[in-house]
Amino acid sequence: MKIICIGRNYTEHAKELNNPVPSEPLIFLKPDSAYLQPRKPFFYPNFSKDIHYEGELVLKIGRNGRHIEQQFAHKYYDEFTVGIDFTARDLQKKLKEKGWPWEISKGFDGSAAIGTFIPFPKGEEPILYSLRKNGKTVQLGNTKDMIFHFDAIIAYVSQFFTLKMGDLIFTGTPAGVGPIAIGDRYEGYIGEKQVLKVKIL
Ligand code: ZN
Repeated sequence: MKIICIGRNYTEHAKELNNPVPSEPLIFLKPDSAYLQPRKPFFYPNFSKDIHYEGELVLKIGRNGRHIEQQFAHKYYDEFTVGIDFTARDLQKKLKEKGWPWEISKGFDGSAAIGTFIPFPKGEEPILYSLRKNGKTVQLGNTKDMIFHFDAIIAYVSQFFTLKMGDLIFTGTPAGVGPIAIGDRYEGYIGEKQVLKVKIL
């Protein structure tokens, strides 16, 4: 299983980190060891002092495919959830300054928290989702604000990487990212349905 992530897919988030809005999807990967199972705690790693949460919709790929045309892309996913793309912002900043790949700041153990998958409500968009930190909403996402929508992401990514059943795609974070602290509790919602729960230890 591979974990594919899209960076800067919401204009307001790109702006909050002073990043330019991309004209093509910005792609990076996390290894399968980054996968944090539903309801497992996240352990704050000692190599960073500035881990951020990024709440995102996560698609699960339901069949194998490559060079998928955008018009058929919807056939390749039927489940999704909310995940947290944990990011060591201090490390990422140093790597970006050097022009180095940012994998270690994004792909470390447990950095891909995944909620419980639910059926994708086809034809019922836009979809609203949110991330709550200690009971307070910190991120509100709306699929109509995505720069690259699900089908465009799948068409783009599958030119380079064969998609396999069970692969996960983090589709980018809306504005409102911020630092985590030990003791925090995060909950992810799709509409009113809670799908994700993570405690920071
Ligand atoms: Zn992200």
